Amino acid sequence: MPAPCPGPCNNAWRRAEQQLAADGTPHDIPVTWGQPVHCPRCASRAHAQLAELPELVVAISLEALCGTAPKTTGTIGRAGAVAWPGQAARLLTDHIVGGLLEVEDDLRDLRHLPHRPGRGTEGRDVTGTVRFLAAHLDWALTQHPCAEETHDRKSGNPAAQIGGWHRAALRFTRRDARLEHYRIPCPRCELLTLFRADGDDYIECRNINCQLLLTPAEYFEHTRRLASECQVARAA
Ligand SMILES: [Zn+2]
Ligand SMILES: [Zn+2]
Repeated sequence: MPAPCPGPCNNAWRRAEQQLAADGTPHDIPVTWGQPVHCPRCASRAHAQLAELPELVVAISLEALCGTAPKTTGTIGRAGAVAWPGQAARLLTDHIVGGLLEVEDDLRDLRHLPHRPGRGTEGRDVTGTVRFLAAHLDWALTQHPCAEETHDRKSGNPAAQIGGWHRAALRFTRRDARLEHYRIPCPRCELLTLFRADGDDYIECRNINCQLLLTPAEYFEHTRRLASECQVARAA
């Protein structure tokens, strides 16, 4: 007997169900069933978010070293006056890495596996724990005692925790949805790292080693050049 997926796919359905229970307001929002607990989309999202965390943890420390301090985004980055440069990045890194290690310890306990090995450095910790969690994530998404908990901030559902860390990291490194992604390679570094933030009047390359700035006119010119190069390549 499948149950509704506890993931964000059912946020609207859960709200509508609450309303229905509260005052009988009918709704026609379809439910997404778990297969058997999480739906395939939420399960693969958890895998993808977990796989991105090592790179995001690095990006957080780069943001502290090279970037401008986040001004208004995220809760941790905004936490009052920072005592020393990079403190916000340190706190967020500890929060994410500490959380990952806790989930690993928890899974090792639940599955009667040997204790987590000492790995030496924080970087090795992140790589090692993400590798371990990736191998055990399908189990965690179905068999973990909290696997059926609705994803929210306090949930012990491993998928919800991973989603929370991923979101916090995106916000801190300002890669969240408020950035519009310009899906054309940067004219300087050729990576797909061109973004424009809400209200900014330029397009910025978010590759920390490049950080090229383009005005909309320059961007348009770059796009036009790429398009004509494509046509030449196709004709040849
Ligand atoms: Zn789902
Ligand atoms: Zn670039």
